[in-house]
Amino acid sequence: MVAEMAQIIDGKVISTQIKDELKEKVSKMKAEGTEVTLAVIQVGADPASSVYVGNKKKACEYVGIRSLAYELPEETTEKELLDLIAELNGRKDVNGILVQLPLPSHIDEDKVIQSIDPKKDVDGFHPQSVGALCIGQPGFVSCTPAGIIQLLKRSGIEIAGKECVVIGRSNIVGKPMALLLLRENGTVTVAHSRTKDLKEVTKRADILVVAVGKPKMITREYVKEGAVVIDVGIHRMENKKLCGDVDYEDVAPICSAITPVPGGVGPMTIAMLMNNCVESVDLQA
Ligand code: NDP
Repeated sequence: MVAEMAQIIDGKVISTQIKDELKEKVSKMKAEGTEVTLAVIQVGADPASSVYVGNKKKACEYVGIRSLAYELPEETTEKELLDLIAELNGRKDVNGILVQLPLPSHIDEDKVIQSIDPKKDVDGFHPQSVGALCIGQPGFVSCTPAGIIQLLKRSGIEIAGKECVVIGRSNIVGKPMALLLLRENGTVTVAHSRTKDLKEVTKRADILVVAVGKPKMITREYVKEGAVVIDVGIHRMENKKLCGDVDYEDVAPICSAITPVPGGVGPMTIAMLMNNCVESVDLQA
């Protein structure tokens, strides 16, 4: 088969663009006397969480957002955490509140998420944020799917009228992704582990978003020629290299555009977190 080379959607470049735009905005806001502040709470010292929290702090520094770090010990009680969130909810000088997940098992994650003021819910996980997205009202959107919309738009890929298939229906990726594609006027199908004949469904997609959590599961048999393929998965292979949910080598030659792993969706998540922090100022005004 002779195919055109697929466009490689560069998440590093696009995320840097977004952060640079935000940096300019934040510096203007500062000049007008408004500072943007994000509070980041981590409970316990899970190494992966520490890396994520570190990256968020770095991004804040880059963009010019003040970050307050709360590194709480593993044995922190649910009440102590809820009290801290209540205090941060009440502070006028704090715009965004982020609780790094997962939390230790003795703390009820849902209760914690629901305790965050929806106007400060920069992760977009609060039921009110999810509901607002669903009915088209202003609110925070989960960062990874919001980043994917930016990747598509900034790569000149039209969503309106397209057959969009999302594999995965998690609360943080699949479901908000489907809602966002719908908001952009895509015709959206959500596939999951109970979908019959997955290949038949995914082959309909002009835009295929894969958030299945299975390394290299999606080979070219799942993909229509010329489709746009967005790979949300991140896995560390035995040789320490990263790979996605899509078998990139196999799929890239037949699609029109594709995100690599690493350097595709990954860098967008933090850029959109920064975007949500900046937006929070308007939402609170
Ligand atoms: P989840 O494990 O929560 O969800 C996986 C989804 O895939 C589920 O809805 C599940 O269906 C579905 N699924 C599982 N197996 C199959 C199958 N064989 N066929 C069809 N559907 C299937 O994962 P997340 O949504 O949290 O994350 C997905 C991937 O994205 C992971 O690799 C994760 O590491 C990565 N990720 C990357 C981020 C980034 O910033 N780049 C951010 C968040 C996640 P069912 O509901 O029926 O069980």
